[in-house]
Amino acid sequence: MTTIKLHNTKTRRKEVFTPLNPDNVRMYVCGPTVYDRAHLGNARPVVVFDVLFRLLRHVYGPGHVTYVRNFTDVDDRINETAQKRRAAGAPGTLEELITERSDETIGWYHDDMDELGALRPTHEPRATAYIGAMIAMIEDLIASGHAYAAEGHVLFAVDSYSNYGALSGRTVEDMIAGARVEVAPYKRNPMDFVLWKPSSDDLPGWDSPWGRGRPGWHIECSAMAQELLGASFDIHGGGIDLQFPHHENEIAQSCCAHPEGGFASVWMHNEMLLVEGRKMSKSLGNFFTVRDLLDQGVPGEVIRYVFLMTHYRKPMDWTAEKAAQAEATLRKWYALAAQAPDGTAPSQTAIEALCDDLNTHAVLSECHQLALAGDAAALRGTMQLVGLMQAEGPAWAAAPVVDLSAQSDRLAAARDTAMQTKDFTQVDRLKAALLAAGVEVRMSKAGVELVPGPDFDPARLEGLE
Ligand SMILES: [Zn+2]
Repeated sequence: MTTIKLHNTKTRRKEVFTPLNPDNVRMYVCGPTVYDRAHLGNARPVVVFDVLFRLLRHVYGPGHVTYVRNFTDVDDRINETAQKRRAAGAPGTLEELITERSDETIGWYHDDMDELGALRPTHEPRATAYIGAMIAMIEDLIASGHAYAAEGHVLFAVDSYSNYGALSGRTVEDMIAGARVEVAPYKRNPMDFVLWKPSSDDLPGWDSPWGRGRPGWHIECSAMAQELLGASFDIHGGGIDLQFPHHENEIAQSCCAHPEGGFASVWMHNEMLLVEGRKMSKSLGNFFTVRDLLDQGVPGEVIRYVFLMTHYRKPMDWTAEKAAQAEATLRKWYALAAQAPDGTAPSQTAIEALCDDLNTHAVLSECHQLALAGDAAALRGTMQLVGLMQAEGPAWAAAPVVDLSAQSDRLAAARDTAMQTKDFTQVDRLKAALLAAGVEVRMSKAGVELVPGPDFDPARLEGLE
């Protein structure tokens, strides 16, 4: 059996992955709050854990992996949209408008993530379908002295769980000093967090022993993981921004409600996303959604490829240049890989790279080697291992691939001559002709690269001497 090694946030080490039950490898990943289109940063964990899902399916068999990714559909921002729509005269009750908003957003999420080549998880539970399980878990926590009800709220008592903070390596004192904790008179310790809170009449709510209310966000994941995967399972994943407090709180709730289980054995966190070297934010004007990119004509596979270029535990910088490179590379690979039948085996080198804590960058390097060697079958299998080259390849890559090697050789030769003669007339003339034909010209010490752009017109290159 292939050995998979994964970096475990809990132990801060790369460890050999040993599933609790190889016949049913179980993974939970925190999913989106469905109030709007997914932005590019939201897509990173989707691709990272899709790669892991694919690897686990490859190693243990597609029928032996259970992947759960939830939808958080209890959220003030969803309610806000529904309230606005009702105020604007939309038909239906507030509940119906809330459901409508969640359905709409889940539909978008599926459309966008499908474009990135992400497989649908085995289960995609909605929080609102598990309210009963959440209430039962909260009752257990109160009964065992880990939670208390106060003023319509139920709070988890962090002092009741001595391991609180172990995942992120913080003490409760550090957390109080560093966190934006909500100070409330009914909290025994400022770090105590909400399991249940009251709902006003104009907001969705469920009847509970503590009055009409709704669950806190953290308890949602604990309850859904318990219901679908049990008290002990293999992998829990999510973005690094969720490590504290969300994951710390999930552990506290689950381990106290189910002390017989260990909750997740391995914790995995992907690093954040940057755009052109800066944090993506609305105020910097570099905020965009996956759909924005798709609408601009950036294919989903290109977005996926750019994600795969960077190891998941490193910050990833999205740049337009990387996207252009990715597209040019994928065009070449698709043209070659299309010559091989579907379902070919991936290269062993690539499998080993992926087994080494998801070294996707090395998998892409291996694809480059396979492409250079003209090994269509192994290239196709390896691309498919990481979710590229699904079926026959997308329509955008099916456009005839143009061979510009003659032109790039000519330009490189002209440049070499010009370096000697200091006369760049011929270089400039060739460059101008290529640009006029819609070809991007990249010249560096390493050589000349020609990338056909969207307006590329091969006819304009004919007769170019
Ligand atoms: Zn979660």
